[in-house]
Amino acid sequence: MPQSTSRTDRPPSPLDFTTVATPKPGEAPELAPGLRWGRLPLPFALNHVNVWLLDDAPGWTAVDAGVESPEMRAAWDTMLGGPLGGAGLNRLVATHGHTDHIGLAGHLVETHDVPFASTLVEWLWARLRYADAREPPKAHVARYMARNGCDEAMVKRFAADRSGFAPALGPPPRQIERLVDGTEIAMGGRRWRTITAGGHTEEHASFYSEADRILIAGDQVLSHITPVIGVFPGEPDADPLADYLASLDRFMALPDDTFVLPSHGLPFHGLHLRLKALREHHVQRLDRLHQALERPMTAYEAAAALFPRAIGEGHAFLAIAETLAHLHRLRGDGTVQVETDGRGVRLFSRR
Ligand SMILES: [Zn+2]
Repeated sequence: MPQSTSRTDRPPSPLDFTTVATPKPGEAPELAPGLRWGRLPLPFALNHVNVWLLDDAPGWTAVDAGVESPEMRAAWDTMLGGPLGGAGLNRLVATHGHTDHIGLAGHLVETHDVPFASTLVEWLWARLRYADAREPPKAHVARYMARNGCDEAMVKRFAADRSGFAPALGPPPRQIERLVDGTEIAMGGRRWRTITAGGHTEEHASFYSEADRILIAGDQVLSHITPVIGVFPGEPDADPLADYLASLDRFMALPDDTFVLPSHGLPFHGLHLRLKALREHHVQRLDRLHQALERPMTAYEAAAALFPRAIGEGHAFLAIAETLAHLHRLRGDGTVQVETDGRGVRLFSRR
């Protein structure tokens, strides 16, 4: 029953979504010759990740792996044994080093004995996070939280949340074929230009086929949600939103009729509209934040003003990380300043 796909995951949108039915775990419908779509289950609020299978007969190149979980392994086995014809993988390619994209990468690379292509920074970050997750949070995390107005209970809560996520990241591959911005990679009978960008992660890779105007976007351009742009303890003074907004300009140079394959959500046409909407989302959030700073505030207080629900539901860490990204952008613009009080707590205020 190819038409049985629920349309509930296709809310009204000005984007022109693919008419291909959304695959269930283990299915892999064709989107274009030599290019298939897998949608695999995640044990998070964001409940799926898309992977792309490119026909490099006798095997397949896969872009992204998903998390380490029994459900994910089962979905891969079903997909490889069924729609992918039992041919196995030739190669695994990573868009970036986040757990939902490369948690299972080490397992796939090892069981199929295939090369792993990644940018250098994404691979290194994943390996560092894997190592860090096996140790208790270090003092710099508590320092980051304290200087942004968090109390001790929040630090403890963060430590507990973090250890809950750790098993989803399996041991990352030990070797890479390095992806470099502007270079080409052949996958599934097409040549793809690697486009690296910052903001969501440091060296996220997207892949663009000029001949067929297809963009494997990763998390850099999503269809329904906006990628997390956050400031985290490892680089507490970063301005990732500047990098992200700059990347939107770079993608704007691609043709508007590009077929966009995002890692979450649905394949779509309407690249320029989506890029404008993503920019607008951040511009509005910057405006709201600037207005909210009626008095000097910590990042925690600003996050509570901006994301009351997220704070109430215990997602303070991510809310603060995202709020900081916007505060640092406003600081970079010169419209907000930051001062540190006698206890080492940072207070943001309008200039
Ligand atoms: Zn993702």
